[in-house]
Amino acid sequence: MRDKSQQLFQKAQQFIPGGVNSPVRAFKAVGGTPLFIRSAKGPYLFDEDGNRYIELINSWGPMVLGHAHEVVEKAVSDALQYSFSFGAPTKKEVAIAELIVSMVPSVEKIRMVNSGTEATMSAIRLARGFTGRDKMIKFEGCYHGHGDSFLIAAGSGAVTFGTPDSPGVPKGVANDTLTARYNDIGHVKQLVEANPGQVAAIILEPVAGNMGCVLPEPGFLQGLRELCTKEGILLIFDEVMTGFRLSRGGAQERFGVMPDLTTLGKIIGGGMPVGAYGGRREIMDFVSPAGPVYQAGTLSGNPIAMAAGYAMLEYLDYHPETYRILENTGDRLASGIKSSLAKLGLNYTVNHIGSMLTLFFTGEKVHNFETAKTSDTALFGKYFNAMLDEGVYLAPSQYEALFFSTALEESHLDQILEANEKSLAKIA
Ligand SMILES: *Cc1c(COP(=O)(O)O)cnc(C)c1O
Repeated sequence: MRDKSQQLFQKAQQFIPGGVNSPVRAFKAVGGTPLFIRSAKGPYLFDEDGNRYIELINSWGPMVLGHAHEVVEKAVSDALQYSFSFGAPTKKEVAIAELIVSMVPSVEKIRMVNSGTEATMSAIRLARGFTGRDKMIKFEGCYHGHGDSFLIAAGSGAVTFGTPDSPGVPKGVANDTLTARYNDIGHVKQLVEANPGQVAAIILEPVAGNMGCVLPEPGFLQGLRELCTKEGILLIFDEVMTGFRLSRGGAQERFGVMPDLTTLGKIIGGGMPVGAYGGRREIMDFVSPAGPVYQAGTLSGNPIAMAAGYAMLEYLDYHPETYRILENTGDRLASGIKSSLAKLGLNYTVNHIGSMLTLFFTGEKVHNFETAKTSDTALFGKYFNAMLDEGVYLAPSQYEALFFSTALEESHLDQILEANEKSLAKIA
């Protein structure tokens, strides 16, 4: 029964564009009505109709310890008694900054903001201010929030200027965004050569999650690092998704490649709206009021959000076994899904690293956006709905990664794999 969700969605559409406050929640890509969620605990999500689902999105990443983890819950309820916002510095902000600097290898100074979008927008402004250059290179299929300069997708093979992906993005802004193919260092070099001395930054998801999970090929991140150093371009790792997930120090620690700037979000807020950008000291000291690049926020470093984020990060810092648990969960699910595919004679592609995974409904190896798009998205929609009927909640789009939490136990993994095999058999 999903009656209550259906009724709420009807009403929501009268008052909210498309009935949702963020587009992918609308289930448009998979068909059906979005579930309206009442509560969540540990590995489970409960909707307004009282249905229970095993969670494989975890609020698009933040709930890496599962929902309403007691450590975060306690930190938030302790903080509540001191009021909810001051717009003035607090002790907690110093503590979280120090903790982040100790965890993320390339970060020497950090500025807190309220979302991943704000983090990437600010990082790009900083890169432009620091280098005195206007252009940036992003990669096809990478998502960096909804800032104007990021909503650009060049047509396939485009080597020059971007065109806006959304009405409302000025052409002038689009002109400064160059789009490269992921995992194609040659293409990036061409773009840099065609725009000598003009590229301020190269920004990417060091492991992509927003075209589905796509791993960097060996040498790709190192190649970007060398190119950036040689050309005076700032390398920005958007670790909003991978930060504190792929390891304690994110993808940069896992792959041993150090960016100049890092953007963070999702896990950093423990479920509260938080983002951050940080990096090398001399670059960060270009940010106001230390330097000339302006960036501000009434609610930045909000005490309740900082309490949640600090509790989350401190837990991860003190519990390195978290990452072993996440690795084991990812490995078990990936190999379980692969053996079901083999058993059913299906040759779909599983991309996986740590606690991120995407099952692409294509036989092709997926290493960039072009190959991700060979997926049969209609089939994914059927799979998604079959999994939902089996009580497993996936991201409602083929072009997303699943995010696992430490709340998943052996019995949950068995249930997920059983649901997966049944669903694949049903739609095949
Ligand atoms: C989610 C995400 C963002 C945007 O963060 P919001 O908090 O949704 O604004 C930016 N970059 C990456 C890699 C993300 O996954």
